[in-house]
Amino acid sequence: MTSDSFASTIEHELSHPKWHLRFSRALEARFERDTQPQRNRNMVVAGLIAALIYSLFLINDYSFRPEVFWLSVLIRGFVVLPFGLPILWAVYKGVSGSARETMMASTVVVGMVASCLISVSSKSPYSYLDIFSFGLILVVGNILYSLRFSYALGSSLLSVAIMVYFVIGYDPMPTEVKRLAIFSICAKAVFTLVANYRLEASERKAYLLLLRETHRTGHALRSNAELSKLSLTDPLTELANRRQFDALFNHYWQQAVEERATVGLMVIDIDCFKAYNDYYGHLQGDHCLKSVASTLATHASSACVVARFGGEEFVVLSKGQPHQAVLDQAEQLRHSVEALQLPHLGRVAPDYVTISVGGAVLQPTVGVNASQLFRAADQALYEAKRQGRNRVVMISSPDALSGDGLSISIQ
Ligand code: GH3
Ligand code: MG
Ligand code: MG
Repeated sequence: MTSDSFASTIEHELSHPKWHLRFSRALEARFERDTQPQRNRNMVVAGLIAALIYSLFLINDYSFRPEVFWLSVLIRGFVVLPFGLPILWAVYKGVSGSARETMMASTVVVGMVASCLISVSSKSPYSYLDIFSFGLILVVGNILYSLRFSYALGSSLLSVAIMVYFVIGYDPMPTEVKRLAIFSICAKAVFTLVANYRLEASERKAYLLLLRETHRTGHALRSNAELSKLSLTDPLTELANRRQFDALFNHYWQQAVEERATVGLMVIDIDCFKAYNDYYGHLQGDHCLKSVASTLATHASSACVVARFGGEEFVVLSKGQPHQAVLDQAEQLRHSVEALQLPHLGRVAPDYVTISVGGAVLQPTVGVNASQLFRAADQALYEAKRQGRNRVVMISSPDALSGDGLSISIQ
């Protein structure tokens, strides 16, 4: 499902809630998947509470119908619990949504059958009073378990039918009391089912709202990430752009101040590029720029930042590298572009594309700032051009910023 169609499915479900409380197939599966762990845990806790209270009703059995107490112990302790506890264990371990609902609903029905059997097995006076508490079994299924509505409805109808069957056939109970008991269980079924329906409807709505929010936030984060990537990348060469370089340059400089490390900078310029454009046209010029950019990015050390500074100029920034390492790296970059042997018939000689590199390495100290490093590298580039291009010139020492200390690499 695409992001847009997913968003419109959520909107549609929110604006057209279905009376039978089911989402469309894919969303229903996702709802089950997302809510399953929590729901399983809740069901198990609810089941354990219900099992405990159900067992405590033995006290009631003992006081109302002592003559069948051991039968009650047998039914509650050796039929109902051995039926219910393995179901709780299975739900705890994780079963499909429909299996979970069916099994939990079956504990409601079995609980009702067992309670009815215990009640009608006794002829003690007032034993039937207990029947008025059977509505609690519906409370367990519809509210405590919060079975999905269709399962709540099914188990409630079945439980009420079972109870009515036992009540009608139970002679010690006066007819008026039977009527009251049946009326009262039906009313409890209706009340708890209405509450169950509302609970599930609001759970589903809350899920949809959360899903919409999560989806929107994810979308906004992705758009933000894409935007910031766009604003920091040069579209032609896909290198870091001038804006990103400026930020990184300052950052590297600050780090170098703290770590007492050096900062190395190369300023690289394609030789006779105007002539290239004039000879081959601007489109081909763009291709050339891309080839040079990707060669620089490939051959620069991974610890370096390679950026397009503007036009046909690039910069390579490094930290903690000694002078010689930056010089070697610059020479390697110059060589890698030369090795491309991109034809350049618009210039006198050589007849292929070359670059000139000016480099400088500085250790930030009091009175030395980042723009001095840039000026030094730029000055070295100017010198490389002056000396004939296709070469590397490095400012050899910080003291040589005035221009005397140039070291020239091999052509
Ligand atoms: P030098 O060897 O001294 O650097 O000479 P040059 O011709 O390379 O230097 P100049 O600064 O005179 O020319 C740079 C040229 O780069 C001019 C401009 O048209 C071209 N240029 C700048 N940006 C782009 C671009 O994005 N695409 C293309 N095709 N050309 C560009
Ligand atoms: Mg230039
Ligand atoms: Mg140039």
